[in-house]
Amino acid sequence: MPEPTVPLLTSLAAGPGGPGGSDLPDALTVAGRTCSREELLGAAAAVAHRIAGAPSVAVQAEATLETVVAVVGALLAGVPAVPLPPDAGPAERDHILRDSGAALVLGNGGDLPVDVTERADWSGAEPDPSATALILYTSGTTGSPKGVLIPRAAVAAGLDGLAEAWAWTAEDTLVHGLPLFHVHGLVLGVLGALRTGCRLVHTGRPAPAAYAAAGGSLYFGVPTVWSRVVREPAVARELGKARLLVSGSAALPAPVFRDLEALTGQRPVERYGMTETLITVSTRADGDRRPGSVGLPLPGIRTRLARTENGVGELEVSGPTLFAGYLGRPEATAAAHTEDGWFRTGDIATLDPDGMHRIVGRASVDLIKTGGYRVGAGEVENALLDHPAVREAAVVGVDHDDLGQEIVAYVVADGVSERTLIDFVAGHLSAHKRPRRVRFLEALPRNAMGKPQKKLLPPL
Ligand code: ATP
Ligand code: MG
Repeated sequence: MPEPTVPLLTSLAAGPGGPGGSDLPDALTVAGRTCSREELLGAAAAVAHRIAGAPSVAVQAEATLETVVAVVGALLAGVPAVPLPPDAGPAERDHILRDSGAALVLGNGGDLPVDVTERADWSGAEPDPSATALILYTSGTTGSPKGVLIPRAAVAAGLDGLAEAWAWTAEDTLVHGLPLFHVHGLVLGVLGALRTGCRLVHTGRPAPAAYAAAGGSLYFGVPTVWSRVVREPAVARELGKARLLVSGSAALPAPVFRDLEALTGQRPVERYGMTETLITVSTRADGDRRPGSVGLPLPGIRTRLARTENGVGELEVSGPTLFAGYLGRPEATAAAHTEDGWFRTGDIATLDPDGMHRIVGRASVDLIKTGGYRVGAGEVENALLDHPAVREAAVVGVDHDDLGQEIVAYVVADGVSERTLIDFVAGHLSAHKRPRRVRFLEALPRNAMGKPQKKLLPPL
């Protein structure tokens, strides 16, 4: 198991070349404003002075330079940072503030404003690697959002594993516009750039035109971003000049994968992870990539399938990127681990013969038990998406007297009938996998990361 070669902070502050090795003039652009790495660290040091000793701080996590300064300031001070989604309603905000016990809110409308033009020196010692770097809240897809304690060493190990898998270096320019309150946008998308020393352009929002204008070598997006990109062929062709296009946070539909390949001339890299495990599995810069596959475990990570039936099982993970527990929920933490200390992801997966992982969905909502069969919702969703009229699809199991559950599809589609879609799926998959009912919607309910929120689907 590779231990991170350098502590989190040393590398963030000094860049990959060691102390003094980071003199890029314009290391970081967020929503149109640019600062150098030195300016970022000076402003972050000023934040660190003010918050030193606080048990934790919340950060109003808008897509701004201030947010980056505040988070890096907290890392410098060794104070756990709790990003607050800027669009969180009062109930979610109260839940996070109360649950995390954050003493202060940094940033816009908070207790302590952040000034990116301030400068201070900071000579604090690197906190213990087991200390909490971040308290990130899960997306709340399957319940209420849980506070996840993320150690500094886990962040460092996860980012070093990704750098290796993607050949990600200071030569890259990373472009994305993802929210800064989840693993994807904040840990990979900001701390990853700081740790590898690469230039970062955060486009404010993940808009295809802004991506195309930014001229990156490495692009991050969630599947909804990539489906927008393939609807704009000129943008897609421009992105084809990049070194790697990376998708994560939710399943990339196979048709979007294929469209991206056709338009950009390259296959996207897919990665799978979660708040609790950070970065777990990914396809490689120099490896095989195929639709529906999220690749192989990252360096130092081990995976296994539990309670497997017909090759489909629950994915369990161990390794240096794992969280330290759910904040204030010892029972939930214990329930999420096996006796031998592996983390139960709650996701169901299969393995290709060469070990490449496929995520079928979530054990709690995406494994449909119908007429004695187990059907993965993702397989039916991909079959529906292969129909040219279907733009989005979410498949669920609904309680049924005879079958246990029946398969119901919610789709966003133009000019196609329920009967046609049922027959279309029956023509592609075994009969028991076809939906028995199809409901048409204007749009699927999704969160800020583009994850489908199946619990918000309307009743039939
Ligand atoms: P909650 O835990 O509160 O229900 P959540 O699991 O959606 O919310 P996150 O930690 O943000 O919160 O998301 C992790 C989940 O996202 C994974 O468990 C998995 O279900 C899904 N996911 C992430 N990446 C991928 C991917 N590449 N393919 C398929 N699913 C993915
Ligand atoms: Mg989860």
